[in-house]
Amino acid sequence: MSTIFSKIIAREIPADIVYEDELVLAFRDIAPQAPVHILIIPKKEIPTANDVKAADEAVLGRLFTVAARIARDEGIAQNGYRLIVNCNEDGGQEVFHLHMHILGGRSLGPMLAKK
Ligand code: 5GP
Repeated sequence: MSTIFSKIIAREIPADIVYEDELVLAFRDIAPQAPVHILIIPKKEIPTANDVKAADEAVLGRLFTVAARIARDEGIAQNGYRLIVNCNEDGGQEVFHLHMHILGGRSLGPMLAKK
C-alpha cells in the first residue's frame, strides 16, 4: 500500500530534497526533532523492517552510504548523529514506507526516553 512517501518520490507533493539517486531519496523531515533531521528512503516500497529481503541488501546498504554522505554535507559527521529505523507500533512507526532518520546538530541525549 502506497504512502505519502511514494507521492514525494513521484513529486506529487513537495519536499525539501537533499539527495537522490537510482535507489534512494533523502529529504528533510516536515517536523524536525533536531537541527538536522533528514529521512532517507528506498524508492522501492518496503513497508517495514519486517519486510526486508536478501534482494534488498543493496538498497539497504545504500541507506547507510547516503547517511554518511549527508552527515558530511550537513557538517554533523565529526560531532556525531543518530540513525533510527522505527518498526510497527512499539517502534513508533507512523509512515509504512521503510525509512532511516538521520538526526544531529545537537547532543541527542540518551538513546531512549525513560519510562
Ligand atoms: P516514523 O515515525 O514513521 O519513523 O517517522 C515518520 C516521519 O515522517 C516523521 O518524523 C514525520 O515528521 C515525517 N513525515 C510525515 N509526513 C511527512 C511529509 O509529508 N513530509 C515530510 N518531509 N516528512 C513527513
